[in-house]
Amino acid sequence: MHHPIKKVVIAGGGTAGWMAASLLKKVLGAQIEVELVESEDIGIVGVGEATIPPIQTFNQFLGIDEKDFLRETNGTIKLAIKFENWRVDGESYFHTFGAPGANMGFCNFQHYWMRASQQGLNKSLWDFDLNYLCCKDGTFNKINSQNPIFDMPYAYHFDSALYGRFLRKLSEQAGVKRTEGIIDKIQQCEKSGHITALKLKDGTEILGDLFVDCTGTRALLMQKTLGVKYEDWSHYLPADSALAVQTERHETTAPYTRSIAHDKGWQWRIPLTHRNGNGIVFSQQYMNDDDAHQRLVNNLDTKMVNDVRKISFNTGRTTEQWHKNVVAIGLSSGFLEPLESTSIHLIQSAVVRLLKLFPHQGIEQSVIDLYNEESKVEYETIRDFIILHYHVNERTDSDFWINMREMSIPSRLQNKIDVFSQVGNMLNDQHDIFRDASWLQVMLGQGLTPKDYHPAANVPPIDQLQQALEQIAEAKKQPLAKMLAHDEFLKHYLSA
Ligand code: FAD
Repeated sequence: MHHPIKKVVIAGGGTAGWMAASLLKKVLGAQIEVELVESEDIGIVGVGEATIPPIQTFNQFLGIDEKDFLRETNGTIKLAIKFENWRVDGESYFHTFGAPGANMGFCNFQHYWMRASQQGLNKSLWDFDLNYLCCKDGTFNKINSQNPIFDMPYAYHFDSALYGRFLRKLSEQAGVKRTEGIIDKIQQCEKSGHITALKLKDGTEILGDLFVDCTGTRALLMQKTLGVKYEDWSHYLPADSALAVQTERHETTAPYTRSIAHDKGWQWRIPLTHRNGNGIVFSQQYMNDDDAHQRLVNNLDTKMVNDVRKISFNTGRTTEQWHKNVVAIGLSSGFLEPLESTSIHLIQSAVVRLLKLFPHQGIEQSVIDLYNEESKVEYETIRDFIILHYHVNERTDSDFWINMREMSIPSRLQNKIDVFSQVGNMLNDQHDIFRDASWLQVMLGQGLTPKDYHPAANVPPIDQLQQALEQIAEAKKQPLAKMLAHDEFLKHYLSA
């Protein structure tokens, strides 16, 4: 298709639709017309509440003031996820956005820490992580330091429905046209199969050159119209259901998400400024709705403020995320359970990728292929990271955990586990959004212990090494004096 792209039509106005609209318009300005169609009668999923740090870049690029954003979305700060009962019942660990330790030489910090630990150092890896130290104290503050030892990456918890509304306002101000209506028919070019127009129930016809399918799990354009197949990953990740509910919040606001494993699934707790978001994720193969409901409710400390909502899903992805002149973004392109809060990030990453490869002179198959290959690896590495949490467990209290431990896993993940178990190193993948520090924390937290560390860690005399590590641990604590209780930080920051 070699005609220039002058008009982009976005079908659907959930988080995906409005993130796509706002960024496309911001980057390409008046060169393209952007029209978004959504239906209030159909509504949105709107349960996504936890994010990862790159969302800051997204907001900054759009020129969003952080304070406005937090106020408008009831947002709070997220430094980590606390995984409770995942390895064994009764134990927990943090996956923080920070990087434990500091640069010590040839190899990564964990090798020096492993050697020192074997020689009697009594400190966990997390004692060297500022994000963790703040999570432990329930504190946060913004740090103005160029010293990488004080890096404290953070993300947000927020109400994604409010975020969508916020982005809608911004997009419309920037010139995005919003059309309310139900998409009834989709017109295609007989010869090429490309989509040419969306026809709404009231007869309105919306023509476009490039179509972005953000219609959620309905996937009206990519799957229903173009027939792109869905790759099912439920053999790796059997969860297919979630029950979500909001509760009152009386406790202080934790700067982290809680992920609490049950005997047959797991439950999230996400603190917003005015309430908690909660939900249980489970597989019908192991637990029915009534059991899941009971488990969810038994684990709520405060009163529910809305009805429990059931959401069914199918873990996997479309075999192509760009096909002909349609790009699927958001739930229309696939779903991974919210264990590592990655869906909103996948939307961001897809929009950025589309923009990098934007086919303003016409669509080329080579560009489509590159887009699809990068998206595939990105999805698969997140999938593998999620599988890691389930697979490396020592729980014996249900068939669910035993089966997750015994199942075969993707070979790329098996390689990563093997390399870490042997030599304490990570195998990197390009397009993996999770850094070494993330894999390290989850591998250690789930109970993997490397047999060996790198020989470079043997070079410093042990007393010097112990001393250096003690100094790093002390240095990491320095900013703590300037931290505020998370609630206090929000109060001061948002009233300034
Ligand atoms: P939707 O929100 O479903 O939007 C679809 C849009 O398409 C709507 O505007 C709808 O009106 C429109 N539409 C559909 N059909 C038509 C039609 N015929 N005509 C007109 N319009 C139509 N993500 C995170 O990052 N962090 C989390 O913590 C997190 N938690 C989650 C928990 C659960 C249980 C689930 C299911 C998801 C979670 N997610 C999370 C994912 C996140 O909520 C979604 O990725 C995100 O909301 C994107 O949804 P969407 O915009 O693709 O689809």
